[in-house]
Amino acid sequence: MSTVSPTRADALALDAADPLGAFTSRFEKAEGVVAYFDGNSLGRPVAGTPEALANFVRGEWGTRLIRRWDESWMRWPEELGDLVGKTALGAACGQTVVADSTTVLLYKLLRALADHQLLMDPRRTEIVVDTDNFPTDRYVAEGVAAERGMTLRWIETDTATGVTTQQVADVVGPRTAVVLLSHVSYRSAWIADAQTITKVVHRAGAMVLWDTSHSVGSIPICADAWGWDAAVGCAYKYLNGGPGAPAHAYLAGRLHGIPTLSQPIQGWMGRRDPFLMEQGYRPEAGVRSLVSGTPPIISMVPVRLGVQLLAEAGIKAVRAKSLRLTDLAWAIVESWPADLGVQVASPREHLRRGGHLTLRHEGFDEIVHRLWRRGVIPDFRRPDGLRIGLSPLSTTFAEVWDGLAVVREELARH
Ligand SMILES: *Cc1c(COP(=O)(O)O)cnc(C)c1O
Repeated sequence: MSTVSPTRADALALDAADPLGAFTSRFEKAEGVVAYFDGNSLGRPVAGTPEALANFVRGEWGTRLIRRWDESWMRWPEELGDLVGKTALGAACGQTVVADSTTVLLYKLLRALADHQLLMDPRRTEIVVDTDNFPTDRYVAEGVAAERGMTLRWIETDTATGVTTQQVADVVGPRTAVVLLSHVSYRSAWIADAQTITKVVHRAGAMVLWDTSHSVGSIPICADAWGWDAAVGCAYKYLNGGPGAPAHAYLAGRLHGIPTLSQPIQGWMGRRDPFLMEQGYRPEAGVRSLVSGTPPIISMVPVRLGVQLLAEAGIKAVRAKSLRLTDLAWAIVESWPADLGVQVASPREHLRRGGHLTLRHEGFDEIVHRLWRRGVIPDFRRPDGLRIGLSPLSTTFAEVWDGLAVVREELARH
């Protein structure tokens, strides 16, 4: 390491030239926060969220009462799903729905795809997962495999990069049912080649479920054009939907209405004509069948604001700024003296680098608490990773510079 360090004036110049600069003031203020480096984990509230929630309570729930279900709420899962699909997934209408948590939707879709594959060909008993996928993905896959008497086929991931196309090609074959992968690695921010990997998986006769939690709202996704089967994404990260915001699921239109492909939690809200209260479950046509029980309507209010803000900015501009932000952070860290002992454990090349950088140092476990007390808020990922998440709509270049200056100070003191 050790190159010419970008100055604070350089960071301010980047802010002055930033076409998305005005968006950084469209979030609720956070007193005492010097640098928020965790927008990739919990995005900040969009300005106006408190008023939108109050208006919902008074204007909709409070006055329209139960009539509002018929007037509009019943359609929110698909309407908000379409907005997410169009804005952030490259998905035409009718394929995305907002429903449960990421974990629950991963379970429903993984079970649906796995069951379908087993019914079509009982020899397809393997679910492919990688050792460094997000814990919930690995646990859900374990559960589905146990329920269905299937086997997990593990890809060993390099934690500083991520799953490669070759690694996938090496494990898929006539025994593969489903491959479950993160589009962007939560640890390194590695972007998997989602288009080529999908092709490779399909060529083997298998299906792929993409977890877009760390890519949705951060990098452009072309789910339709890339031939994706299914995807699940989180709404409280780059979509700013708030803690526990309902996630969304994408199921390609060509997979709708297939009798062997249905999700396992058969609830009345995903049934055809739920208010007929009839005997027997008959799934509603299309992506609505992924809904199980009463949708979390209140929680969709902030999600809508977050997605609308993203739509206004445009995902291409967001991605362009994201790369400038991580480039700045990279240049700063690279200029630190080598004896500080910090390494960047994220991909250097733009094509493979998502929205955050992971720095490694054995002291981070200890200093992260001191950083938080000083208003610099990254997160720590065991064993030694400090994640510098740079959510483009809410982060300034000066914030990157100021926050990293504090990280360096605390490291020097360590
Ligand atoms: C954040 C995240 C989740 C979150 O799942 P929840 O059900 O919302 O807790 C899942 N997968 C990945 C890859 C994530 O980054």
